[in-house]
Amino acid sequence: MFAEFSLHERLLKALDNLGFSTPTEVQQAVLPPALDGADLLISAETGSGKTVAFLLPVLQRCVDQPAPRSGTRALILTPTRELADQVCKMCEQLAAFTQVRAISVCGGENYQNQAARMRKNPEIIVGTPGRLKEHLEKGNIDFDDLEFLVLDEADRMLDMGFRDEVTFITDACRTERQTLLLSATLNTKGLGAVIDSVLREPQKIELATAQSELANIRQQVILADGVELKERQLRWLLSHESYQKALVFTNTRALAETLGDKMRSGELRVGVLHGELDQPQRTRILNLLREGRINILIATDVAARGLDIEGIDLVINFDLARSGDEHVHRVGRTGRAGQQGLAISLIAPNEWNLKASIERYLKLQMEPRTLPGLGGSYTGPKKVKSNGKAAGTKKKEPKKKEADKPKVKKRLRDQKQIGKRRSSAPVSADGFAPLKKKS
Ligand code: AMP
Repeated sequence: MFAEFSLHERLLKALDNLGFSTPTEVQQAVLPPALDGADLLISAETGSGKTVAFLLPVLQRCVDQPAPRSGTRALILTPTRELADQVCKMCEQLAAFTQVRAISVCGGENYQNQAARMRKNPEIIVGTPGRLKEHLEKGNIDFDDLEFLVLDEADRMLDMGFRDEVTFITDACRTERQTLLLSATLNTKGLGAVIDSVLREPQKIELATAQSELANIRQQVILADGVELKERQLRWLLSHESYQKALVFTNTRALAETLGDKMRSGELRVGVLHGELDQPQRTRILNLLREGRINILIATDVAARGLDIEGIDLVINFDLARSGDEHVHRVGRTGRAGQQGLAISLIAPNEWNLKASIERYLKLQMEPRTLPGLGGSYTGPKKVKSNGKAAGTKKKEPKKKEADKPKVKKRLRDQKQIGKRRSSAPVSADGFAPLKKKS
């Protein structure tokens, strides 16, 4: 029960209103030390209830120790606008019976309006690093009074190339403060340096592992000869599976668009989401999905992170994700907050080895499935090696001499990206990393 954490009654009332009666695992672990004022290093995924876990201590402080003359008291940095909006919305819901105000400050929104809202001195600011840095540089805001700093999805912020912005902002924050850093994994390159520079003797709370994340999600695999068969399989699944909302992932924007056009015909209510759409378009599509006016979203990985839309109970990987972690993020859009989910991956011959690597990384075997009349001729490799990969698909060994060249080294590393995030891709100002290649 939340009451055992001696939270303010107005916060308990809000939790009650939201229907949150029992704290999730991450909330159980985070609340006592966070309410005690400790710096925390938390590994937890979206879906675990992490947002409430870091918002409650912030709000408890704001309610318990009002400071009307203070500047911004809490800053929450997130990698994407969507996540910032979600965090801000949850903050407003938790603060519904208090005077505490939170605003979100992200790229792609009117700069002057933001500056005006910041002048009203909200206690809590939730935002993306790029735009906040701009406001700091222009002197629209300062964090001299800051009491709380939260870095949410810190690994993702670094992956998206926000290191400089994050450092600039954290350097501008008051040193006497409490800091909570959340990350899906703690072994992201460069995270150690950020941890050392922003946290003071942090307590480490490690909850999520990629494997445990997906415990309540059934994973199936359907073999296909190629794109044409995959399209027929997708249409069959979208027409015959029972689901509230389905999320279909492709690796390219072009394919998302093409599939959107093809699937839209007929009964299916389909939207498309990718990084080339502008913010109003994205918001409109996400709202359509939230409200249930569409129930199928075909998306690139832009949608894989941080999105928390109720009722997604089916994820279909039209293309397999390029790494184990991306697969986890995609599949983790279903099965949220303890719900059951189903994830189906359509696998062409050239994706078999990637599937095997993902299975090894997650320590699971996806259930094979066939669809009536849509079997195709591909039934898997003739021979499978002990690591699950197709026999006879030897990794090309570089010539001895070339192996020393950095160019070759890089290529070898690239082949071993399973379980790791894609390297920092260039990001747009709004914080969305475009997928490597537009096609
Ligand atoms: P998050 O990991 O913060 O993205 O949260 C995932 C989902 O869990 C959100 O939809 C929250 O509304 C929901 N949630 C958070 N805390 C609780 C709780 N204690 N009980 C039930 N649902 C919760």
